Parts: sequence; C-alpha cells; structure tokens
Amino acid sequence: MLYDQHIHSRYSQDGSASIEEIAQQAIVRGLRGITITDHLDFCEAEIGYHFYLEHEAQRREEFERVREKYADQLEIGWGIEVGHPYFMTDYAKDFLSKRSFDFVLGSVHFLRDQSDIYLIDYSQPQEVDRVLKEYFTDLLALLEFGGFDSLAHLDYPLRVMKGKIAEPTVLPYREYIDPILREVVRQDLALELNTRGFMDWKKRQEPEDWVLTRYRELGGRKITVGSDAHTLSAIGGAFDQAAQKLKALGFEEISYYRNRKPFPILL
Ligand SMILES: [Zn+2]
Ligand SMILES: [Zn+2]
Repeated sequence: MLYDQHIHSRYSQDGSASIEEIAQQAIVRGLRGITITDHLDFCEAEIGYHFYLEHEAQRREEFERVREKYADQLEIGWGIEVGHPYFMTDYAKDFLSKRSFDFVLGSVHFLRDQSDIYLIDYSQPQEVDRVLKEYFTDLLALLEFGGFDSLAHLDYPLRVMKGKIAEPTVLPYREYIDPILREVVRQDLALELNTRGFMDWKKRQEPEDWVLTRYRELGGRKITVGSDAHTLSAIGGAFDQAAQKLKALGFEEISYYRNRKPFPILL
C-alpha cells in the first residue's frame, strides 16, 4: 500500500491527465494515497513557470472537488515540484511562504545559464561531464535555499544521456554526491526514490543502489517514493520493485507528507 508522491497533472505544462483521472487510476492501482506535484520551475526561460501561475486557482478548485469526492477511497495530497528557487530567491521565498502545501519536492531541471538539461547537446563527451558537475553543484545550492521536503530524482541528467555515457552510473561523481547526501541528512529532509528509471534505459530506480546505501550509512532514513508520472499509465509504476529494493538495502519504511510533516509507512 504505497503512496505515489510525484505525479504531474494537466496543470503541469508537460502533463495531460485531470486530477480526477489521476485519482481514479490510483484507486484502480490500489494505492493508498497520492500527492499531485505539478511543476513550478523558477526560471524565466521555462514556459511552465507562467503556466503554473495562470492555472493555480483552477488547479486548487479541481483538487478540492476530487479530494472530497474520493475521500473514502484515497488520500490526496496538495503538492508541488519546485525547480531551482535560487534563480529567483525573493520571489520563491514569497511564493512558498504564502501557500500551504502538504509536500514540496525540490528539483534542478535547468543549469545556471538557463539551459534545459533535457535539451542540451551531449554529443561531445566533455558536455556530459560538465553538465553532471554543474548539476550536482546546483543541487547543493538548492539545499542551501531549502524550502522543500524531499530531493527529487538525484541523477536526473542521466535520463537524457543514453548512448552518451558508458554506464548509467554517477559513481565517478561520488565526491560531489556525498556532500549532497550529508546535507539532506543534516536538514532532516527526505531523499526521493523515483521509479521512472525502471521504465527508461537505466532499468533501475533513481538514484542507483550505491547512492541509497550511502544515504543510509550517513544516517538517512526518510525516503519518499514517486513515479514522476506525466501520463495515467505511469502512476504507481514499479512500486513493487521499489519496495523490494528498499528492503534489500536495509530500509524499513518510507515517508509520506501531510502539512509538510513526514509520516512513516512500514515496508
Ligand atoms: Zn523533475
Ligand atoms: Zn516531476
């Protein structure tokens, strides 16, 4: 009985399903709960920034209606995935302080020059290395800014590096990743296990095993699980595999968030 805590609805510019369709699908999948985490990338180069704000009232209205309608079958949380709030620190602080979410995911999708990690040309091997180093450095900046509950898809750039990197691993960047994990633990945040990687070329959860093991060694216990679904079929995807993996790595529970507070679910 798992919670899917990373789902995009049609209120993300790259999502398609209504919140009601998502709720119905989650019930069919037998999930105990879901959190809708539409995108708000704090970045002028990103259309999703305006898209979120323009649809915010409508999103809330649909959310309230659906939450009430399915209250006896499914818990539905009010969440958001914020990208690089350090691009607009004052605005991001103001935005987050004026709203109450159940759960906030923190992400980096764009580099400092406002280039979209998904759209960079990785045909030159040095680009792979440059982007990964910059990306991990920016994750530390994200943690320094704070304001979120769980660090999303720690090895996100690998999604678009198929054929450009020999193996789907970030092990060569261990010296960059260690301080990130230490900071997640120090701030008592959660680390996300994103199941999307099971469905893409990596054929494994994001992040990979050694990262989860290292997080645990450093004292990290809070894990949130999310599919990062942008379509109905992806909701709750590979959750059995995720639970098995976490147990095999020594984790005993996952966390879900309500009113920005973690609650445990035993695995
Ligand atoms: Zn993301
Ligand atoms: Zn996402």
